[in-house]
Amino acid sequence: MTLDNTILPLLYMLAAISFILAIKWMGSPATARRGVIIGEIGMLLAVVGTLLRFEVVNYGWIFLAFALGTIIGIPIAVIMPMTAVPQRTAFSHACGALASALIGTAEYYKGLNQGPAPTTPEMTALIIETLLGFLTFTASLMAFGKLQEVLPQRPITYKGQNFVNLGIFAAAAIIGIVLIVSPGQVVLFPIFVILCLLFGILLIIPIGGADMPTVIALLNSYAGLSASAMGFVLNNRLLIVAGALDGSSGFILSIIMCRAMNRSFTNVLFGAFGQLQVAAAGAQEAKPIHSASPEEAAQILDAARTVVVIPGYGMAVAQAQHKLREMFDLLGKRGVNVEFAIHPVAGRMPGHMNVLLAEADVPYDKLREMDDINPEMAMADVALIIGANDVVNPDAENNPNSPIAGMPIIQAYKARTVMVIKRSMNPGFAGIDNPLYYLDNTLMLFGDAKAFLSSIVKELQAVGKAA
Ligand code: NAP
Repeated sequence: MTLDNTILPLLYMLAAISFILAIKWMGSPATARRGVIIGEIGMLLAVVGTLLRFEVVNYGWIFLAFALGTIIGIPIAVIMPMTAVPQRTAFSHACGALASALIGTAEYYKGLNQGPAPTTPEMTALIIETLLGFLTFTASLMAFGKLQEVLPQRPITYKGQNFVNLGIFAAAAIIGIVLIVSPGQVVLFPIFVILCLLFGILLIIPIGGADMPTVIALLNSYAGLSASAMGFVLNNRLLIVAGALDGSSGFILSIIMCRAMNRSFTNVLFGAFGQLQVAAAGAQEAKPIHSASPEEAAQILDAARTVVVIPGYGMAVAQAQHKLREMFDLLGKRGVNVEFAIHPVAGRMPGHMNVLLAEADVPYDKLREMDDINPEMAMADVALIIGANDVVNPDAENNPNSPIAGMPIIQAYKARTVMVIKRSMNPGFAGIDNPLYYLDNTLMLFGDAKAFLSSIVKELQAVGKAA
């Protein structure tokens, strides 16, 4: 009985179970923390198990890599703000995909130089691993650059672009097939690698910054599939399971995001969407609007029975969640029922609003999903929109020519009074005007979300003391 056939399979099995539980628990805000912890435990078990493998003879390089990874990883986690999570995710996918692709490359040359030569099934897995790994590496770096605004966000398009891209992919795929059939054609492997790297860059160039989070979810899926293929190459069952979980969850997430934005995959990948249309928004600014002060807003909230808060990207930018929680507590004490309507693509990453509200300890049962709250919006006395714009834009329902036509929205316009906290009449992510702001029952509350909520909180406290 050796370590390799007793403890190792057990550790790997426990790690696989942990990953499955992690994904399940991360599906609900109430269990998400538990999900993250069990995922981390699973990863620790997987790493410890791998270090115990008999193939590992020299720990020096491994610990050097651990140290380097820690030195790079901790500052990234600490320095990058929550609003930059999409690009941070893109960067970590780039690193994971590169690792997978390099291991595939090393296995290819090891098999050829030291034997045994890779069999056809091994070579098939190896080609899938390196193809997805290398293309995900450059594509994720490009996505990072666009989101971090190091590269231009706008889509760059030219005539025949899809033809060129598909041609390069087809060339890589054909060389891959030749290598599967005849692994000894060493000269072809570097050409294959260059084509995969090039395809990753060209794939992202025509996609606008607005679609990057969806693309990142898709790249997550590719990186997972690459890792799964690596599991076949290395004969490691845990990698197969973990990679498949990663691949399928990334794919499901990108489908959910496409649906929430009423877009198709082909439209995201080949549609060159996401160009700002600020000019169109500017033309609308002359229309009359009604604005209100923090005192007036506090009085309206105080008099309401039901308030539905709709948070968006602006709440994240202003870090207004803690002030929001204070307002929630004060209104709750005065008998006002406050609920939070969460749009699936509010903010800049899936679950963005859930994470921020959880950080401010807003009770989970007060968070309502879009489809759940929309039928009740007409009964709300106040819809309080905090830094959200596109996700409450009625044009999505009423204007078939709008770029967001068909996107499901939170129907804030149905509430008796709509109050919108934002700094100006500037558009949101889609770059389009919002007719909601010009309705008779809409009050614009101009200011930074945190500052405005602070003023409302002060007013509510003052009213509380006077009462
Ligand atoms: P949004 O449409 O981008 O609007 C955000 C609003 O926040 C802006 O109009 C801005 O107006 C305001 N704002 C910014 N900073 C603020 C501050 N400090 N205080 C107060 N307001 C502030 O946001 P959203 O309604 O959350 O919609 C999300 C958009 O991102 C959608 O178009 C969605 O499709 C897209 N998207 C999301 C995801 C995702 O996973 N969540 C993925 C892909 C795409 P002012 O400048 O006037 O203040």
